[in-house]
Parts: sequence; structure tokens; C-alpha cells
Amino acid sequence: MKVPAEKCAPVIDDYLPRSGDPGYRVSRYELDLEYRVAINRLSGTATITAVTLVELQQFTLDLSASLSVSKVSVNGQRVAQFSCRGGKLRIRLASKLAAGAAMAMVVRYGGAPQPIRSLWGDVGFEELTDGVLVAGQPNGAPSWFPCNDHPGDKAAFRIQVSTESRYRVVANGKLVARRTRASQTVWTYEQPEPTSTYLITLQIGVYEAVRLARTPVPIQAALPARLRGEFEHDFARQPEMMSLFVELFGPYPLGSGYTVVVTDDDLDIPLEAQGISIFGANHCDGSRAAERLIAHELAHQWFGNSVTVRRWRDIWLHEGFACYAEWLWSERSGGPDADELARLHHEQLRAKPQDLLLADPGPRHMFDDRVYTRGALTLHALRGRLGDANFFALLRDWATRHRHGAVVTDDFTGLAAGYSDQLRPLWEAWLYSTTVP
Ligand SMILES: [Zn+2]
Repeated sequence: MKVPAEKCAPVIDDYLPRSGDPGYRVSRYELDLEYRVAINRLSGTATITAVTLVELQQFTLDLSASLSVSKVSVNGQRVAQFSCRGGKLRIRLASKLAAGAAMAMVVRYGGAPQPIRSLWGDVGFEELTDGVLVAGQPNGAPSWFPCNDHPGDKAAFRIQVSTESRYRVVANGKLVARRTRASQTVWTYEQPEPTSTYLITLQIGVYEAVRLARTPVPIQAALPARLRGEFEHDFARQPEMMSLFVELFGPYPLGSGYTVVVTDDDLDIPLEAQGISIFGANHCDGSRAAERLIAHELAHQWFGNSVTVRRWRDIWLHEGFACYAEWLWSERSGGPDADELARLHHEQLRAKPQDLLLADPGPRHMFDDRVYTRGALTLHALRGRLGDANFFALLRDWATRHRHGAVVTDDFTGLAAGYSDQLRPLWEAWLYSTTVP
């Protein structure tokens, strides 16, 4: 039986008005999946533990239209009324649940997963020449599992994927089990730290596993054997990068270490996931030209993955910080210092159209270069105002206080006010005006 679409569902984030459901919060997802690479066929169950925030009889999960649902149960009861339409799985319970009630949902589903078309191009599950990647930002997660897809609803994850044994499966968290039976291998990952759905990833490929030594945080890699030589050169300074960021931003936020995946295909841009960064073969060519990006993605583990925006309009809190981390790495590793890079980028930014509001760039400009550059310049201006000692103390304070949390811009400016009460004009100029200061 079909559930009628709600006329005007409440909006969590006006940049992605169709994503998420404010009626409940998820604490844990358990995905138990089988994937066949050759024919792109995914099937399995998602077990989702949640708590209702309001009295609830009808609610939604985000799930791509390329996947179909065969069975839903909630709190052990089979649900008769559910329907999939327009990227939403709508579920109607036989009776109401009170606010604060526990909700254990089991969704059996499957199909041929496809990327989701978005304002920002194709996102989510994507077939590679021989394997898979998931690039979830910002709304790609429902391309492969049902979820409450907004960054403020963080949960723990257990991801279990069975596939042909010739492939290596990388997902978020610690690899807790790997069992091979006949030609199939089951990989089980456990991600205990609260994680936004867009940062959950699945990487499948014919990859060799590499463990990097001499580092305070365990660093691993998965890459095609043919790129091993280039990788040893291009990614060699990751341990030093990790040490620098731990020194400047505070402890690495995850217990399971850090993994870099290099795909056998080229990728337009690298991307971050919880505990993982994904690069293309083109970023690993033996020239070390992508080192700036390696620093950028690593910095997202603090800014973006651990301290995550509640709404996408505040994305400068991810990209401005990660971009500034590139400059900090350059400064530490013998390249141009942050001041020099800031001057260069300031000049370039002034030559571009001055119609972007950093604190609310609009969905179309969320990933505009100017968000990155202007965000980093804002931090550089703040550093100049506070001095190095206070500036880095603020960054550590920010990363510690909001570790695994969800934030808005006011949280940052509010915290910074404790370091100086003279910052209003700086925020006005950099965050809340379009003219480049
Ligand atoms: Zn980034």
C-alpha cells in the first residue's frame, strides 16, 4: 500500500531541502551488503537504530530511486505501508510512536546503484573501470544505503560487504573481520566515532595494502600495485604532515588511523571521507605535484569530518580550514610561507567577481574556489589579529570542544570572541560582506 507524499515536509537545510528527516536521530547504522562488481548488483539489509524526536507515525529515509526496497520492519514489526519515490523511502507505522521512543528499522533493499545527479555533478556510488568508489559529499550517501542524510545527524557505523575475493574492500573505521569462503570475501569494518552519512564510503578495487611506518597515528594505503613506486615518493611526507597537524590542531580524531586510497582510474578531484582520503591515479604520478591536496584532505579529518557543519551554508568551516592547512604545510615543509601564499591568493581573489558571501554562498557556489580561498584568507587575517600563540590555541580549542560534533559559523566566532573582543569588524569584512577586504 502506498503512502501519500507529505505536502510540505519540514526542511532541515535549505541548500538541500529534500534531504533528511527532522523527526528522529540515528545512533547506529549496520549495513550488511553483497556486491557483485562485474554486474553492478548490490543487495542486503540496513539496520538503523534511532530515537524519535517528536511523536511520529510517518517518516522518511533518503534512498536513491535506483534501489528498490523489498521489506521494512520497525521494532520487530513488519511495516505494510512503505513506498519509494523521488529519492525518499516513506514509512508509515500502524500506530504512533511517542517522542523519545527507540526505533530499530530494518530495510531490505537492492538494485544497480548509480550516482545521484546533483547541482554539483554526479555524487555517491560510482563504478570504476574495475571497482567502485563512493564520493558522498554532499548528498551521495542515499545512492547506496537508506539514511537520514544531513550532516548534523552523526552515527556509528558497521559496514559489512561481501564481494569477489580478488578485490580489496575499504570502508570507514577499523577492519575487524575478513573471511574468505569459496570465491567470496566478507569484509567487516567498525566505525565507532559519530560520523555524518556523506563521509561514509565504500572503495572496491584490485588494491595492494601498504602500511606506512614512523608515524604517531597509523597510516595505511590501498592502491594498484603498478603505482607503488610513484606512491612511495608522492605520499612520503604524510607522517610529517600528520605530526604537524597533531601539533597545530590537537589529537587526530579517530582511533582507527588514516587510510589513503589511490584508484586505478584518474579522478577530477580527491575527496575526503571519515578516516579515509581518496585520490586518483593522476594524483600519484611521481611528481609530488599533489602534495598540497594530500595536506588538504588530511586536514579535513579535523575540520569537516570531526567538526562538521550543521548546515551546508557554513561550508567555509570545512574548506577554508583545509585550504589554510595547505598553506601551513607549505610553510613547514620549506615552501612559500602562509603570508606569501595569502598575498598571492588575495590578489587573485580581488580579480574575481565580488558577489560571494562567505557565510552563505548559496548552494550553487558551495564548492566555488572562492569559498576555499576566502575562507583561508579569513583565517590568515584572524591569525594576524590574534598572533600565532592565540590563533593556534583557538584552532585546538575549536577542534577539541566540537570533536565529533556539528557546528555553525556563530559557534566559531563566539569561541574566537574569548580570544579577542575586537573581531567584529574582521567577521563583517570577511564573512558577511561580498567585497574582498
Ligand atoms: Zn576540501
